[in-house]
Amino acid sequence: MWGRRRKHRPKEYFIFGTIQEEDRVIRINPSLDQPFVPLWFLRYVLYHEMLHSVVPDETVSGGRRRVHTEEFNRRERDFPSYCRARRWEEENLARFLR
Ligand SMILES: [Zn+2]
Repeated sequence: MWGRRRKHRPKEYFIFGTIQEEDRVIRINPSLDQPFVPLWFLRYVLYHEMLHSVVPDETVSGGRRRVHTEEFNRRERDFPSYCRARRWEEENLARFLR
């Protein structure tokens, strides 16, 4: 589902989507609901979040949890438009940060 619009959002980073652990509800940032955002990019965001529900977190030194593990990154690259999506993200990030 689309996430709620937030009044206060961080200016230095942008969260495309989240997944809730308990019920696996994926929320997509409503700022992505714009005509210039390609459908294949939304699919990539969904794929990324779904991957979080199947690839376990790792605990790294200091007891911190790491969610984007090597295994995660490896499986993320299996997404057919992965490179295209990452490039699009890089090129368009500034449009979401204002
Ligand atoms: Zn993630």
